[in-house]
Amino acid sequence: MDMKLEKNIALRTLTTMRAGGPARFFAVAENDAEIGEAVSFAEAEGVSLFVLGEGSNILISDNGIPGLVLKLGTNKISFEDYEKGQTLLVAEGGAHWDTLVEEAVLKNLSGIENLSLIPGTAGAAPVQNIGAYGRELADTLLWVEVFDRDRKKHKRLGKKECGLSYRESIFKKKEGASLVITRIALLLHPGGEPQTSYKDVRDYFETRHISAPTLADTRRAVVDIRTRKLPDLAKVGTAGSFFKNPIVTKKQHEALNTTYPGLPGFVVAKGSIKIPLAWILDHVCGLRGYREGTVGTYESQPLAIVNYGGATAKDIRAFADKIARIVEEKTGILPEREVLLVGDWAA
Ligand SMILES: Cc1cc2nc3c(=O)[nH]c(=O)nc-3n(C[C@H](O)[C@H](O)[C@H](O)COP(=O)(O)OP(=O)(O)OC[C@H]3O[C@@H](n4cnc5c(N)ncnc54)[C@H](O)[C@@H]3O)c2cc1C
Repeated sequence: MDMKLEKNIALRTLTTMRAGGPARFFAVAENDAEIGEAVSFAEAEGVSLFVLGEGSNILISDNGIPGLVLKLGTNKISFEDYEKGQTLLVAEGGAHWDTLVEEAVLKNLSGIENLSLIPGTAGAAPVQNIGAYGRELADTLLWVEVFDRDRKKHKRLGKKECGLSYRESIFKKKEGASLVITRIALLLHPGGEPQTSYKDVRDYFETRHISAPTLADTRRAVVDIRTRKLPDLAKVGTAGSFFKNPIVTKKQHEALNTTYPGLPGFVVAKGSIKIPLAWILDHVCGLRGYREGTVGTYESQPLAIVNYGGATAKDIRAFADKIARIVEEKTGILPEREVLLVGDWAA
């Protein structure tokens, strides 16, 4: 085997949460052939295979991952002309997401500027259909290429086949569990208008009296807003929003709004309303900036659970479960985790 395979590798520092145990086996695949080799190795050893991106949306158990952890070392990004004057951005699975955004904006291509500074890889972006500031990956995704571990075949899936919805896709479900995303293709618009209608972005430009922001201005605004609002990964551990924003019926929202006047809600489909959980954590539960030892909710974005240093995965999970229970007691809504629990959680 050409690929270098290591044993008992610490994963804590390969995640943004900075917690969790080691990988029994660890490898970096530099090309499609090596992904195939890794899959064969895991099968021969009779162990699971987990694809690790930048570890920014996972909580690995303290026992670690008793299988093969595979990182993709593939990171090429290319741009091609497409139909109707559009441009296709094709990125390999291991490419750093924000590099795609930066390069697209430099080429004056619109579509992903609002997704600036989201941590992670291109390969992980479809997994939870990343989204921010009124945009999501589904707005630009054309196709993904995957290696199907069960059938040992590379194939291309169109956007529809990826089953993208709010922080969801087939890759998080049984039918997509055997797929390693090796490439993604995004359709971008040369000289397209930035989307600035999202409140935080709109306010940013209004207060600065910028009436016709460019794509570069929009990227700068999003980077600025995020830098101020979100934890600094150099200082603390976090995986961003720990929970999804709950989606409730119009009736449920009305009832909650009677108990908690001012409860925000955004219509996402007919009769369905998305509630910002951060508002509930802050105004209903009083949990903004709440801390127990080395774990807490972040002061300026309580949806982010923070490891202030030295927290175990067990501590973080227990804290998150407690937060979820408090929300349920107050509102009847049990928040769903956005962060994925990975590894062996047996006590
Ligand atoms: C500070 C901070 C802010 C964040 N803000 C946002 C935000 O605004 N919007 C948002 O949507 N998310 C946000 N996130 C979450 C996170 O950045 C995204 O979910 C990101 O796409 C995860 O990428 P990753 O490479 O780190 O994936 P990982 O965390 O390493 O993996 C996540 C999942 O994807 C799977 N996976 C990874 N690569 C592949 C692949 N090539 N093929 C198949 N499966 C794969 C993994 O097996 C795992 O199940 C934030 C996180 C942090 C820490």
